[in-house]
Amino acid sequence: MKCKICGKENQAGAVFIHAETKISDYVCLSCQLESEMAGAKELKDIDANIKMMEGAVDKFKTIVEEVGSMEGEYPPELMAFAPLSVYKIAEEFLATLKIRRMELLLKEDKTIRLKYELQQAIEKEDFEKAAQLKSQLAEEE
Ligand SMILES: [Zn+2]
Repeated sequence: MKCKICGKENQAGAVFIHAETKISDYVCLSCQLESEMAGAKELKDIDANIKMMEGAVDKFKTIVEEVGSMEGEYPPELMAFAPLSVYKIAEEFLATLKIRRMELLLKEDKTIRLKYELQQAIEKEDFEKAAQLKSQLAEEE
Protein backbone atom coordinates (compact mmCIF):
# COMPACT_ATOMS: atom_id res chain seq x y z
CA MET A 1 0.00 0.00 0.00
CA LYS A 2 1.12 3.49 -0.82
CA CYS A 3 1.13 6.24 1.80
CA LYS A 4 -1.30 8.97 0.80
CA ILE A 5 1.02 11.72 2.04
CA CYS A 6 4.61 10.78 1.17
CA GLY A 7 3.85 8.13 -1.46
CA LYS A 8 6.24 5.58 0.06
CA GLU A 9 5.24 1.97 -0.25
CA ASN A 10 5.35 -0.87 2.28
CA GLN A 11 5.76 1.32 5.35
CA ALA A 12 4.21 0.55 8.71
CA GLY A 13 1.07 2.59 9.07
CA ALA A 14 -2.67 2.52 9.30
CA VAL A 15 -5.69 2.66 7.06
CA PHE A 16 -8.25 5.34 7.76
CA ILE A 17 -11.77 4.99 6.45
CA HIS A 18 -13.83 8.11 6.05
CA ALA A 19 -17.17 7.66 7.77
CA GLU A 20 -19.15 9.43 5.06
CA THR A 21 -17.42 8.61 1.80
CA LYS A 22 -16.22 5.12 2.87
CA ILE A 23 -13.02 5.93 1.00
CA SER A 24 -9.99 4.46 2.70
CA ASP A 25 -6.68 6.21 3.02
CA TYR A 26 -3.42 4.61 3.96
CA VAL A 27 -1.02 6.79 5.94
CA CYS A 28 2.42 5.59 6.98
CA LEU A 29 3.64 5.85 10.58
CA SER A 30 6.18 8.61 9.87
CA CYS A 31 3.50 10.77 8.25
CA GLN A 32 1.09 10.09 11.11
CA LEU A 33 3.65 11.18 13.67
CA GLU A 34 4.51 14.19 11.56
CA SER A 35 0.92 15.38 11.31
CA GLU A 36 0.25 14.75 14.99
CA MET A 37 3.24 16.77 16.11
CA ALA A 38 3.29 19.48 13.47
CA GLY A 39 1.35 21.74 15.82
CA ALA A 40 4.20 21.94 18.32
CA LYS A 41 5.65 25.40 17.87
CA GLU A 42 6.69 26.18 21.40
CA LEU A 43 9.56 24.72 23.32
CA LYS A 44 7.34 23.22 25.99
CA ASP A 45 5.20 21.49 23.35
CA ILE A 46 8.24 20.05 21.61
CA ASP A 47 9.62 18.93 24.94
CA ALA A 48 6.35 17.16 25.69
CA ASN A 49 6.55 15.44 22.31
CA ILE A 50 10.16 14.45 22.86
CA LYS A 51 9.25 12.97 26.23
CA MET A 52 6.44 10.99 24.62
CA MET A 53 8.63 9.73 21.80
CA GLU A 54 11.38 8.77 24.23
CA GLY A 55 8.80 6.67 26.05
CA ALA A 56 7.73 5.06 22.77
CA VAL A 57 11.32 4.37 21.71
CA ASP A 58 12.02 2.74 25.08
CA LYS A 59 8.93 0.60 24.75
CA PHE A 60 9.82 -0.56 21.22
CA LYS A 61 13.38 -1.19 22.31
CA THR A 62 12.13 -3.52 25.03
CA ILE A 63 9.91 -5.33 22.55
CA VAL A 64 12.75 -5.69 20.04
CA GLU A 65 15.01 -7.04 22.77
CA GLU A 66 12.36 -9.54 23.79
CA VAL A 67 11.36 -10.82 20.37
CA GLY A 68 14.54 -10.19 18.39
CA SER A 69 14.54 -8.60 14.95
CA MET A 70 12.04 -11.24 13.64
CA GLU A 71 13.89 -11.09 10.36
CA GLY A 72 12.83 -13.93 8.12
CA GLU A 73 9.70 -14.47 10.16
CA TYR A 74 7.78 -11.71 8.46
CA PRO A 75 6.89 -11.88 4.79
CA PRO A 76 8.80 -9.11 2.96
CA GLU A 77 5.68 -7.02 2.36
CA LEU A 78 4.97 -7.01 6.10
CA MET A 79 8.54 -6.45 7.24
CA ALA A 80 7.72 -2.77 7.74
CA PHE A 81 5.43 -3.82 10.59
CA ALA A 82 8.09 -5.84 12.39
CA PRO A 83 9.02 -4.43 15.81
CA LEU A 84 12.51 -3.52 14.63
CA SER A 85 11.17 -1.42 11.74
CA VAL A 86 8.71 0.41 13.97
CA TYR A 87 11.45 0.99 16.52
CA LYS A 88 13.67 2.52 13.84
CA ILE A 89 10.90 4.85 12.68
CA ALA A 90 10.27 5.99 16.24
CA GLU A 91 13.98 6.56 16.83
CA GLU A 92 14.33 8.51 13.61
CA PHE A 93 11.37 10.67 14.50
CA LEU A 94 12.79 11.33 17.95
CA ALA A 95 15.99 12.58 16.29
CA THR A 96 13.93 14.87 14.05
CA LEU A 97 12.17 16.30 17.10
CA LYS A 98 15.48 16.98 18.81
CA ILE A 99 16.76 18.85 15.76
CA ARG A 100 13.57 20.87 15.70
CA ARG A 101 14.05 21.71 19.36
CA MET A 102 17.54 23.01 18.66
CA GLU A 103 16.33 25.09 15.75
CA LEU A 104 13.66 26.61 17.94
CA LEU A 105 16.14 27.35 20.71
CA LEU A 106 18.38 29.16 18.25
CA LYS A 107 15.51 31.30 17.08
CA GLU A 108 14.23 32.28 20.49
CA ASP A 109 15.43 35.26 22.38
CA LYS A 110 18.57 34.46 24.28
CA THR A 111 17.24 35.61 27.65
CA ILE A 112 14.04 33.61 27.33
CA ARG A 113 16.12 30.62 26.33
CA LEU A 114 18.47 30.95 29.29
CA LYS A 115 15.57 31.35 31.70
CA TYR A 116 13.95 28.23 30.33
CA GLU A 117 17.18 26.24 30.49
CA LEU A 118 17.69 27.46 34.05
CA GLN A 119 14.25 26.30 35.04
CA GLN A 120 14.93 22.91 33.46
CA ALA A 121 18.28 22.61 35.23
CA ILE A 122 16.67 23.38 38.59
CA GLU A 123 13.93 20.83 37.94
CA LYS A 124 16.58 18.22 37.16
CA GLU A 125 18.54 19.36 40.22
CA ASP A 126 21.54 20.04 38.05
CA PHE A 127 22.79 22.87 40.24
CA GLU A 128 26.14 23.18 38.54
CA LYS A 129 24.45 23.92 35.25
CA ALA A 130 21.95 26.19 37.00
CA ALA A 131 24.74 28.30 38.46
CA GLN A 132 26.36 28.52 35.05
CA LEU A 133 23.12 29.65 33.47
CA LYS A 134 22.49 32.17 36.22
CA SER A 135 25.78 33.91 35.58
CA GLN A 136 25.07 33.88 31.84
CA LEU A 137 21.72 35.48 32.52
CA ALA A 138 23.32 38.13 34.69
CA GLU A 139 25.63 38.98 31.80
CA GLU A 140 22.71 39.32 29.43
CA GLU A 141 20.62 41.57 31.61
ZN1 LIG B 1 4.02 8.62 4.51
